[in-house]
Amino acid sequence: MKIDLHCHSTCSDGALTPVELVQRAQQMQVDVLAITDHDTVTGIAAARDYVKSSNIKLNVIAGIELSTSWHGFDIHVVGLRVNNDDPVFLDRLEGQLAERDKRAERICDKLAKCGHQGIYDIALDIAGDAQISRNHIAKALVQKSICTHPQQAFSKYLGKNKKAHVSPKWISIQEAIKWIHESGGQAVLAHPGHYDMTTKWLRRLVAEFAEAGGDAMEITHPNMAADKKKLLQQIMAENALLASVGSDFHFPSRFTELGRRLNIPLECKPVWHNWNLATSDGAIQ
Ligand code: AMP
Ligand code: MN
Ligand code: MN
Ligand code: MN
Repeated sequence: MKIDLHCHSTCSDGALTPVELVQRAQQMQVDVLAITDHDTVTGIAAARDYVKSSNIKLNVIAGIELSTSWHGFDIHVVGLRVNNDDPVFLDRLEGQLAERDKRAERICDKLAKCGHQGIYDIALDIAGDAQISRNHIAKALVQKSICTHPQQAFSKYLGKNKKAHVSPKWISIQEAIKWIHESGGQAVLAHPGHYDMTTKWLRRLVAEFAEAGGDAMEITHPNMAADKKKLLQQIMAENALLASVGSDFHFPSRFTELGRRLNIPLECKPVWHNWNLATSDGAIQ
């Protein structure tokens, strides 16, 4: 069974619409797909409606990737099997989205001070109906030929300690876990290998996440070195967390694909160990 529990649609900074994600997941023979847009669940309903109406055999898990702030790091917490209709949860997300708007404005003010005016309007236009993210601002900088590639926009302007970086005021890890749990979901520490931190800080992060009631952590990413995978599994076991896997797919490329190379070692207990994968939303058995 192919399981991918982390990907993005056009509702945040992904390139494919929720329907196109479902179609691609089917092409890639994925059986279970969690759609985990940044701070929003707006894509879930359209994906599920399409699965139902076209008789596709794909289990769409309602997911989200919440942005949190922790000691100056942007830490991402994935929620799986959240209730995407829960009014309390949706109301809470409004605060995160307001922070996204505010931060985008502040980033673009800094860019203007660097001599690059008018980026905000272009980024808003690129984002369209999506929640604005730094990816949209990066694309605007490329469109204006200020940067050659989105990656360069991060390394020159948008990344941590770069010219137009703004420290966001996201919720805490504890709040993210509480929101996810109160909406009926499980909380997963996203891509722990991708934070630019020492092993000492990584251990501290995972310990705090587990102490706050977090359920699982992602333990593998395509292209991750074997020794790093081993370290993550060791830290996971030390903190009695479950294992999760996801491609963090944003767009089709040579390097990123839905459901590819996401096997977890037999000795790891997966986050879906008590899900009923025969039901359309993986309701717990
Ligand atoms: P935001 O949620 O607005 O802070 O944007 C974070 C998103 O930007 C991540 O989910 C990635 O998709 C993308 N991103 C972050 N860092 C980089 C980077 N160095 N290069 C390219 N994309 C990045
Ligand atoms: Mn992203
Ligand atoms: Mn992330
Ligand atoms: Mn992601």
